[in-house]
Amino acid sequence: MTRFEPSEIWLTEPASDLWMARRVLQRAAKACPCPVRVLPSYSDAVIAAKGLSRERQKRVLIVADRPEQWLRPERFPGLRDRANTFVVTTGKGCSYDCSYCYLQVRHDIACLTVYADVDDLARELAGAADAGALTPGSLLNAAEDGEPFATEWLTGIAEWLADQALRVQCVVELRTKSSLASSLDVSVSGQVIQGFSISSLAAAAAFEPRADPVLDRLTAAGECQEKGFMIALKLEPIIPLQGWRKSYRELLECAREMLDPHQVDHFSIGTLRFRHSLRERICENHGTGGSRLFEVGSEEVAPGRFSYPEELRIAIYEFVTSQLSRCFPSVPAYLSLETHSLCSWLGMTSGRFGAPRETAAWGASWPRRVASSLAPANMEV
Ligand code: SF4
Repeated sequence: MTRFEPSEIWLTEPASDLWMARRVLQRAAKACPCPVRVLPSYSDAVIAAKGLSRERQKRVLIVADRPEQWLRPERFPGLRDRANTFVVTTGKGCSYDCSYCYLQVRHDIACLTVYADVDDLARELAGAADAGALTPGSLLNAAEDGEPFATEWLTGIAEWLADQALRVQCVVELRTKSSLASSLDVSVSGQVIQGFSISSLAAAAAFEPRADPVLDRLTAAGECQEKGFMIALKLEPIIPLQGWRKSYRELLECAREMLDPHQVDHFSIGTLRFRHSLRERICENHGTGGSRLFEVGSEEVAPGRFSYPEELRIAIYEFVTSQLSRCFPSVPAYLSLETHSLCSWLGMTSGRFGAPRETAAWGASWPRRVASSLAPANMEV
């Protein structure tokens, strides 16, 4: 279990009186006392962080006020069969440092940031529900900008968000590579989908050295199911190291042995997508280990966006979906961020980058499904 313990906390002045900031400081002072530095604003924190090495940045926790709005509509709504999907950003950054992580180019600095004005988020959620933008069963994707559980012991944000989601009848999806996810304690576990990212053991050893071991993640996923959570399994990115068919087959067989398929909400599958800037940053930050990600070649799939050659991607999707069909025949699988032509070629519903193979009526029906532990509508993969 890997929890993040900062070596310094930087607090922005506007955040200093907020209850979330006080909570983080109190919990840190009790368990891992460290210096606290107060800065006038988040921009000042970014400027100061840029003067530190990347390794040192990754030990700093910034507790800040959030300048923008919290919710934004999902850019790729065709990926899921939910009526409404929103991204909600409660923080930034991740301490795990996976070689392929897109956060390396998404954020200016490698510090972890927690946004403390969560009462403002509660108001925004309530306002969106009142305005009809959030409807019962809408999905809040809460882990796009980082890993939530490494700092959960300091913030309790996942627990808080689940409670807020209950008020507006939404579902929160938390994506993680942490076994700490199983310690989440919420009053209504059906309000949360715990999305575990998993890779073959070889790929995890090569590219996810600081995340929890894959078998620990699967054990945690099973514990989440025992607590009543739906889980999702994210095979993204699938990395075709030598012997990848055998290693992904073994991974899915292992998952089948450890998990109840009736409490698996979905699988998402995808391969590595990158721009040149990310490729350069990976090689810069992770050296020859990182450059192994590109050994199998690449091709441009959209202007400025690259992925593995199409023939290889098709081989990966065909193999993985055939294994899912064998191990988890009743669970939907979505292709993530793929080209329209490849989705069509694979017989998937049309969508910008990918789409479910079969849409299931979610929306208002989800509480019944969760309550009865029924799997989504059968789908042939
Ligand atoms: S766990 Fe996810 S967010 Fe964190 S470094 Fe790895 S890929 Fe990035």
